[in-house]
Amino acid sequence: PRSVHQIQSGQVIVDLCSVVKELVENSIDAGATNIEVRLKNQGLDSIEVQDNGSGISKENYETLALKHYTSKLTTYTDLTSLQTFGFRGEALSSLCALSKFTVTTCLASDAPKGSKLEYETSGKLRSTGVVAAQKGTTASVEGLFHNLPVRRRELERNIKREWNRVLGVLNQYACIQTGLKFSVSQQPNKGKRMVLFSTKGNRTTRENIVNVFGAKTLSVLIPLALELELEPTTSTPGQKWSTQEPSDGAVTQIHVRGHVSRPAHGEGRQTPDRQMFFVNGRPCGLPQFAKVFNDVYKSYNSSQSPFIFANIQLDTHLYDVNVSPDKRTILLHDQTRMLDNLRVSLSALFESQDY
Ligand code: ADP
Ligand code: MG
Repeated sequence: PRSVHQIQSGQVIVDLCSVVKELVENSIDAGATNIEVRLKNQGLDSIEVQDNGSGISKENYETLALKHYTSKLTTYTDLTSLQTFGFRGEALSSLCALSKFTVTTCLASDAPKGSKLEYETSGKLRSTGVVAAQKGTTASVEGLFHNLPVRRRELERNIKREWNRVLGVLNQYACIQTGLKFSVSQQPNKGKRMVLFSTKGNRTTRENIVNVFGAKTLSVLIPLALELELEPTTSTPGQKWSTQEPSDGAVTQIHVRGHVSRPAHGEGRQTPDRQMFFVNGRPCGLPQFAKVFNDVYKSYNSSQSPFIFANIQLDTHLYDVNVSPDKRTILLHDQTRMLDNLRVSLSALFESQDY
């Protein structure tokens, strides 16, 4: 019979996309300036993420993949001002339960000798070996869901849709992270490995977008720099979400930064209709925000959908990242007023364009 652990693990690692996301976030948290994502057979065979981050020290080998082991969260209050992507210590333990999971890691002081760590389904360290390595960590996931036949079959059946979501998430990290060299390659079942895209450690998100989507994309983009201001409200008892309330009577400032298609960019100039949303640099799906962008855009240009890269910057007490295990769903407090405000500001931005 399957252990409880195996079943619960499904909550963090729900699909291919969450594997990729968790591994990339661990690399970013480790301070990497170079990340290479290597997929084999669209991730069905393997997913490998290599970074040049801090590496893992020997005393953490045993505990690394145990449930709730995390080196990141130290106190509960940290949750309200999260600096790292990870904080639950669930990803690696889930990956052990759901795949063949190995880690190669090396501290700067140990290079060029690193360790190869193999973990059991339970997250227990099975073996360590010495390998040649440079500073950093490579996490490798083979045969995701191999021990859950129904989930595996479902993944294979939906691989086309999954693959698009994986690319979508990888695009998001590649575009938002400045100062990071990020490359993604894929080796098909039959055929040789190909680089799908790579960024060059750019200083701006603009340059990242050019690396990922091509220079042509830029010609239709305008900068997005909106200031949303929410007047203070008297907070209703029972609707208090967070432990830290903003100081009374202050106007709440929200910045929306990024790039968006100019509505009238001429016939035949198709751009990728990618739509990427972030909250304080954290990639997430924000369907209601997307709807406002699309609605406003459509009233100027009904024949195309816009390219959107929007980073919503706001105080951490105005949202919860903790609502879903994969941290992609973010609960924004007072969202209705934010959206109304966004609609007005965005219309003004498009209105101000010289067509
Ligand atoms: P979390 O990210 O929530 O802490 P994970 O299960 O994703 O939990 O990872 C467990 C721990 O393993 C992390 O807290 C970190 O100490 C270590 N770790 C994972 N990936 C890396 C990496 N690429 N480089 C350095 N340390 C890592
Ligand atoms: Mg993590």
